[in-house]
Amino acid sequence: KLIVTGATGQLGGLVVRHLLRKVPASHIVGVARHLEKASALMELGIEVRQGEYRDPESLSHAFADGTKLLFISSSEQDDPSRVVQHAHVVKAARDAGIKHIAYTSFAFAEDNPLALVHLTTEHAIRTTTIPYTFLRNGGYAEFFIHSSLKANVENGTIFTNAGQGKVNAVSRSDLALAAATVLTEEGHKNKEYNLVSCHPWSFDDLAEALSEIAGKSVVHRSVSFEEEKSLLVRSGMPEAYAERTAYVYTAIAEGKMARTTDDLVKLIGYETPMKELVGKALQG
Ligand code: NDP
Repeated sequence: KLIVTGATGQLGGLVVRHLLRKVPASHIVGVARHLEKASALMELGIEVRQGEYRDPESLSHAFADGTKLLFISSSEQDDPSRVVQHAHVVKAARDAGIKHIAYTSFAFAEDNPLALVHLTTEHAIRTTTIPYTFLRNGGYAEFFIHSSLKANVENGTIFTNAGQGKVNAVSRSDLALAAATVLTEEGHKNKEYNLVSCHPWSFDDLAEALSEIAGKSVVHRSVSFEEEKSLLVRSGMPEAYAERTAYVYTAIAEGKMARTTDDLVKLIGYETPMKELVGKALQG
């Protein structure tokens, strides 16, 4: 059986849908911490089991008779709590006799001070000696490309403090296909993949794509960190989230999200172009 944790989440739900194109539903088990959120998964015909990372006993039931595990990292904000949750998942996988763990880490984790939880978890997985694949996911393209781009088309402007920096973000669906591929194909044991775009784009590029698709001029204007934060707050974003977003743009301006590899394209054979994601966002 292929066990997928975080199956009620955005990435996990996409992984299950990609898996269903590759293996029978009876081979897939989705793990949900809240079963009441899992009705859409159950309708896909897969087995759903309850599992909460804080509760080791629930994980031992959830992972029973599993062969391969896709361990989706916890979405908790508090890092010490995430480390403990992840330790429970790794121990439960070992005790259940899982033969291969694929873990959603973060791109270039060893060089990113914000990815310590992922490095710690990778280390814990290595110490079990269970074959692993580290899916070191890049930032989600959907963080930048979403339905609110419609407002940018109306205003004719995108304001950011990202300057000319480029971003190597990838769509969740491509990352989900990468995970489904690793779970269903041979040749991925004890490997680390940095799953980022081969074609990093700037916000000038995003404005150009928006202009072409919408048939109306949209330009990117650079603002300061503080200006960006207050623009986001004025647009209705909670202050803490606005500040985090402005920090992400600063990282982009500093070139910290531009690094690239072809690991994703080698694994899934293509990557969804930014322009296609923009087209979908404007329709949605
Ligand atoms: P979601 O928040 O949509 O999904 C996270 C999933 O993990 C949900 O199913 C959630 O359950 C489950 N989960 C969280 N905590 C626990 C827990 N304690 N026990 C059991 N299950 C738990 O996130 P995404 O699917 O978008 O992303 C997947 C992961 O990737 C995130 O959890 C996060 O670690 C990481 N991430 C990566 C980013 C990137 O840019 N690469 C950006 C943001 C996050 P429930 O459905 O009940 O909430």
